[in-house]
Amino acid sequence: MKRIGLFGGSFDPVHNGHIEAVNSFLHSRVIDEIWILLTPDPPHKTDQQKTEFEHRYNMLKLAFQESDQIKVSDVENDLPKPSYTLQTILHLKKTYPEWTFFLCIGEDSLESLHNWYKYDEIVEECTLMVVDRPGSDHSGVDSEILEKTIFVDHQPMDVSSTEIRKLSVSSIDDVPENVQTYIQKNNLYSELT
Ligand code: ATP
Repeated sequence: MKRIGLFGGSFDPVHNGHIEAVNSFLHSRVIDEIWILLTPDPPHKTDQQKTEFEHRYNMLKLAFQESDQIKVSDVENDLPKPSYTLQTILHLKKTYPEWTFFLCIGEDSLESLHNWYKYDEIVEECTLMVVDRPGSDHSGVDSEILEKTIFVDHQPMDVSSTEIRKLSVSSIDDVPENVQTYIQKNNLYSELT
């Protein structure tokens, strides 16, 4: 019986905060593997201009050395849009009925979980694993959600894709070097500044 962590996001672009979060989720030893699920069309970001899925996927592949423990997945691209997390969880549970899934998120996502599509069914379907994120505070989160939450030991990192999209000199350092090169080579984000 394998225990799989699911870490979804728009990763536009992937940054060191994501990488450190993945390390902390794995170090917790609660899960055997983590799958990084690239979301083509997050329900809460449908109006936002997004970098092409292919570019975001390529950057994830560069950032994460795939191993027995880490997989980068494009499964949500084949599911109906927008990419509701509940839909993905139900799809994966049906496809891999013998495995247990955990939903891995940052604290900001925990804080806003009550706005997610059928969040109560999400917490019925799987346990949450959460890493701290600077600027977030989970003190107002419903007890029914917190009962299904494991807080993972983690050194918080103040970094976001939003800041990196502005291509400020300091924030680009929060992206792995091979991803920085990919961004420059493909001239990504310059039109968003
Ligand atoms: P944006 O700034 O575009 O909203 P983001 O930096 O929050 O992006 P996402 O791809 O939306 O990144 O996040 C994917 C997942 O990673 C979410 O669960 C989010 O909470 C988590 N996450 C992102 N950055 C951090 C961070 N610095 N610390 C902890 N968790 C993070």
